Amino acid sequence: MEYDVLIVGAGLFGLTMAERLANECDKKVLVIDKRNHIGGNCYSEFDSETGIECHKYGAHLFHTSLENVWEYVNQFTKFTNYIHKVYTTHDGIVYPLPINLGTINQFFQAAYTPDEAKVKIAGQAASAPENPQNLAEQGISLIGKPLFDAFIKNYTAKQWQTPAEELSPDIIKRLPVRYNYDNRYFNDTHEGLPVDGYEAWFQNMIDSCGDKIVVRLETDYFTDSEIQRLRDAGILTIYTGPIDRFYDYQFGELKWRSLDLGKEVLDVDDFQGCPVMNYADLEPKYTRIHEFKHFHPERTTGCYAPGSGKTVIVREYSKTWHLGDEPYYPVNTAEDRAVLSKYQDLAASEQNIIFGGRLGEYAYYDMDKTIAAALAKFDEIKNRV
Ligand code: FAD
Ligand code: UDP
Repeated sequence: MEYDVLIVGAGLFGLTMAERLANECDKKVLVIDKRNHIGGNCYSEFDSETGIECHKYGAHLFHTSLENVWEYVNQFTKFTNYIHKVYTTHDGIVYPLPINLGTINQFFQAAYTPDEAKVKIAGQAASAPENPQNLAEQGISLIGKPLFDAFIKNYTAKQWQTPAEELSPDIIKRLPVRYNYDNRYFNDTHEGLPVDGYEAWFQNMIDSCGDKIVVRLETDYFTDSEIQRLRDAGILTIYTGPIDRFYDYQFGELKWRSLDLGKEVLDVDDFQGCPVMNYADLEPKYTRIHEFKHFHPERTTGCYAPGSGKTVIVREYSKTWHLGDEPYYPVNTAEDRAVLSKYQDLAASEQNIIFGGRLGEYAYYDMDKTIAAALAKFDEIKNRV
């Protein structure tokens, strides 16, 4: 079969482009991935011993306020009513996240009203500059120094192992701060998990295109001989791998954080009583524990049933990325941004290669932003493919 487009990477960016090009432009699309599954980092699998759905590359919660994205994804899966809640342990005590009136009152052993809490935090945030330039300044300006030191400073040190003064303020802007007792982790209009799991969602995207999409797994863009032939023929390529790898690291490596995910099946019904528990202090070394059965309270059979006596947890440790590790979070210091712009200059002059996704753009994209970026890129190119 001859193909019109080659897509490198079966993650959300690649699959969204594939689906659009096949269904809207009637193109024949070859999607390759070097892994042995579709879905990129959003992939989940059902644990063989317990049947509990485990997110292989870290927990993934879908949430969006982008109506076009919500409409798009609902063509391929239904979503549960799951609302994400996170707790954190600091100095042996559990607090609700994101920082809300419950966290503030528990931390200060007080009964502040919303207005009283705002005055208190404003006083503690007064030392931060008006236009925060880094994560430390941004964090202190949002919640004041005592809360920053308790809940953000050490967690961020474990997560990024880069001084908070060198990290982008955007990282911390992801977390809402609320002066009421609402402890939803996300602010978005729509939230939920795919009812039949992530893989079923992504497979439905492919199946919706009939035979116009072919997927080849365990196929590396840089080493596979058939792909080399397509490259030599100048096939239009959507590349969602790392941009620095594409250019053979000629300007140096972009920095990433990687993760070690320690999975355990435990003989207890309920290990921690919530889906995610963060650990705000330098000890223990892990940043958080995920307990996957709590992501699907609507599932009530097998090991999801109360009294099953089994659960699956994952301890998440952040680590410095080295060549060969999975790249997870872009560190994105000023030095990284300077290197990135050199690669982007090269990418801008490519005729037949389009870079996209979190690796191709070196961006800290949530799933909805990845899909939005792919839909926008599709609109940009659809009249010239
Ligand atoms: P990816 O999913 O990384 O897909 C890229 C694919 O390209 C990979 O499968 C890779 O194997 C393949 N590839 C790379 N190089 C090659 C090559 N040379 N040849 C062939 N294939 C190649 N978002 C949320 O909305 N909610 C969350 O809760 C959430 N949690 C997250 C937790 C973690 C730990 C991380 C790291 C991210 C999280 N995200 C979350 C973000 C989400 O993972 C991304 O938005 C999404 O995965 C990006 O899709 P992508 O297609 O750009 O990249
Ligand atoms: N963060 C923190 N303490 C927490 C949770 C988050 O300091 O208990 C900071 C940390 O720097 C993290 C950022 O807020 O990288 C964004 O948190 P989020 O939970 O959105 O991160 P992700 O789920 O993407 O790992």
